[in-house]
Amino acid sequence: MKRTTGVEIERLIQLLAKLPGLGPRSARRAALHLIKNRDKLLQPLSSALADAADKVTVCSECGNVDTMDPCAICHDLTRDRASICVVEEVGDLWALERAGAWNGLYHVLGGTLSAMEGVRPEDLSIARLVDRATREGMREIVLATNATVEGQTTAHYITERLKGSGLSTSRLAHGVPVGGELDYLDEGTLTAAMKSRRPF
Ligand SMILES: [Zn+2]
Repeated sequence: MKRTTGVEIERLIQLLAKLPGLGPRSARRAALHLIKNRDKLLQPLSSALADAADKVTVCSECGNVDTMDPCAICHDLTRDRASICVVEEVGDLWALERAGAWNGLYHVLGGTLSAMEGVRPEDLSIARLVDRATREGMREIVLATNATVEGQTTAHYITERLKGSGLSTSRLAHGVPVGGELDYLDEGTLTAAMKSRRPF
């Protein structure tokens, strides 16, 4: 194939095309936009990416991503530290934070149990959750896994593991379409789902 741009630009386009929501065509458009706005966009983005690559870390406590460990949420003494909201992915945590729907701590599982895809309990951070949940003073666990079969299976499994711990476990009242993923819900729906959480 005949090359129309330099390898550096081609590489930029190929990498952009790997971002969620961007195909080859929109990646090309984005690359062109960046190149045209070299000072205002391309260079600041480049240093923001370098900074993030340098500093981003996963919280060893809850699994959130931040530039410090423990993360800002785990550090925050104004939050309710006796309650943990369990989510599948960091994107779900961010969605709940955006909605201002939760003022406790979080636990990011890193996915869901799936027999089909061979995801077992030890592949997720379930043992660490049980460890955190059974610490002194813990009161409530809210299971905010998605309303998918895998999400609900995972929530049931965790409830079983926490049986006898004396903790109150509840799940989000999904006024949410079946298969609904938290990250795609509007903030009002999320807040309502959290407020009307019900016991497992
Ligand atoms: Zn954390």
